[in-house]
Amino acid sequence: MDQSKIGRFIAERRKAQGMTQMQLAERLGITDRAVSKWETGRSMPDSSVMLELCGMLKITVNDLLCGEAVSMENYKDRTEENLLEMVRAKETADRRLLSLEVVSGVVSVLFLFAMIAVGTVFMTMGQPLWMFFVPVAAGMIQFIAVALYALRIEQVAGYYVCAKCGHRYVPTYRSVSMAMHMGRTRYMKCPECGRWSWQKKSVSRE
Ligand SMILES: [Zn+2]
Repeated sequence: MDQSKIGRFIAERRKAQGMTQMQLAERLGITDRAVSKWETGRSMPDSSVMLELCGMLKITVNDLLCGEAVSMENYKDRTEENLLEMVRAKETADRRLLSLEVVSGVVSVLFLFAMIAVGTVFMTMGQPLWMFFVPVAAGMIQFIAVALYALRIEQVAGYYVCAKCGHRYVPTYRSVSMAMHMGRTRYMKCPECGRWSWQKKSVSRE
């Protein structure tokens, strides 16, 4: 998707409807800064406002994603291109999230150990007991926070694949957090066939 082309198209359609950036922003309930960022190609409209935006600009979502009014004869091809590209964009974003999970996990464990080391040094210096527990508690709290965040990433990034029937799905946070796991492979019940299996994580839909 060509973000700057889409931006120019949004600006052109907004002007055609006789609206300023401010007016469009107000009607969408967002800031005019956000509109300005779309129009200069620095960001894309969020999926939550996309339909409403297209309604106001009197275009289809397909037109918006192409950055031009799509003619009827190649409408289907362009729709498919856009869909494919969105799937690819989601896969890339999911891969990034999963690497972020690894990096933040490592940093978090290092921080926890550092805090335990700090507490231990205080203890050997004959400081009161709370001087040990405060840094250790700080380390533990951040570790738990990062772990919960990592779990959320594992839930939403990509899909779990049922080992029995091959069904791909995004599980609930509850089933991910309760499941036994080895690395990212989790023992869960498939919502499609109802059988339990060790389900692998996959970023691709196929
Ligand atoms: Zn299944």
